[in-house]
Amino acid sequence: MKKSADVVIVGGGVIGTSIAYYLSKQGIKPILLEKDDLASGSSGACDIDIILQSKNPGIHLQLAMESAKMYTTLADELDFDIEYKTCGGMILIENEEQLKIMKDFVKRQKAIGLNVQLLDLKEASEIQPGLSPLLVGSTYSPQDAHVNPMRLCQAFSRAARRLGAEVCLNTSVVDIKVGKNKVKSVITNRGEIATKIVINAAGAYAPMIGKMVGLSLPIKPRRGQIIVTEPVPKLVMADVLCAKYIVAKYNPKLLEGSDNPETRLGVGLSLSQTHDGQILIGATREFVGYNKNTTHEALRAILRNATRLVPALKSIHVIRSFAGLRPYTPDGLPLLGYVEGIQGFIMAAGHEGDGIALSPVTGRIISDLIVDGKTFMDVSCLCPSRFRSLMKNEKVI
Ligand SMILES: Cc1cc2nc3c(=O)[nH]c(=O)nc-3n(C[C@H](O)[C@H](O)[C@H](O)COP(=O)(O)OP(=O)(O)OC[C@H]3O[C@@H](n4cnc5c(N)ncnc54)[C@H](O)[C@@H]3O)c2cc1C
Repeated sequence: MKKSADVVIVGGGVIGTSIAYYLSKQGIKPILLEKDDLASGSSGACDIDIILQSKNPGIHLQLAMESAKMYTTLADELDFDIEYKTCGGMILIENEEQLKIMKDFVKRQKAIGLNVQLLDLKEASEIQPGLSPLLVGSTYSPQDAHVNPMRLCQAFSRAARRLGAEVCLNTSVVDIKVGKNKVKSVITNRGEIATKIVINAAGAYAPMIGKMVGLSLPIKPRRGQIIVTEPVPKLVMADVLCAKYIVAKYNPKLLEGSDNPETRLGVGLSLSQTHDGQILIGATREFVGYNKNTTHEALRAILRNATRLVPALKSIHVIRSFAGLRPYTPDGLPLLGYVEGIQGFIMAAGHEGDGIALSPVTGRIISDLIVDGKTFMDVSCLCPSRFRSLMKNEKVI
């Protein structure tokens, strides 16, 4: 491991590896430090969706649309099969109340330029057979896509290394030295690296890295449990969500204290089929600290919800389950950019359930910021200082 670097990136998930790639492409040779293996955090315990439709109209959707454009050429650019495929996506609608909410969501997304429409049940069933006859309809966008997040991390990392980045696995950051309000070095279990710039891309673990420089970051782990089926012939034609997924994602307060396990656990359907034919059935949205266990109650609730909406799933065998931790922030948006008061400390974390979709654009934004001092799109509303009141600087530096 080198003793100094222009930039040190903490975290080997989709965000850290993407930043490593885009920085290397612009001539900077960063060191990426990962305490375990690539994709050993949320990026290896998640779904595979690059969904535009689940993003709030505004900066969130704009970021996702820029990222989606970048994805179309990424596999060629990285020279690696990331199992990227445009498959379209739909959000299932169960009743008139949900229809009203989704009509408004679609209208606002269309205004930003997303190709999305409302379908009645007959039209939805033509795209996705096996749906419940009790549904009202769905939304549909042909722009939604899939990728394999673990292969994506590998692809970014390999391409970055070819361009001169150093990727250090099994290397834990244990402290960050700051002097006169400037980043000086990073201390790891394998020694010290002198640097002027540290990027916190540690996902749900970002608060621990923030604490090393005296920050109290507003990022919390939000558990998601997922069920995996045996491989079956093509059955899930698009990325399939349900309207309750959108409610659970953006309104955690509405879920609190409910007697209904589906509501309390934030269950919202997410359905997709991998390259190898396995179906991923999700998911919950729970605040249980850093606990990555799966629970019987949640798995039953996920299956009940999924088979109610898509009865065709009933005859397929489940083979395993897993849970990952989404890096949640109070406004559902990541913290991107320099932290005021600690020169050289950059945040790139807090992507909640959207980190896979937003990884290319995040890599480019952070790289632009370091190399050019400005970004190709205005992301000033994502700067960490929007949470100034929550980010007490406790360390004397
Ligand atoms: C159930 C579920 C389903 C999801 N589905 C989707 C989806 O379909 N589409 C989508 O876009 N997003 C999805 N997400 C969200 C997505 O997985 C995350 O937003 C994304 O993986 C975050 O990436 P990251 O690189 O920020 O974090 P991570 O992948 O968690 O990477 C952070 C890395 O930092 C490392 N680290 C931590 N501390 C240290 C330290 N001290 N020193 C060195 N390294 C350290 C960790 O080991 C980890 O590898 C889902 C998430 C979950 C949980």
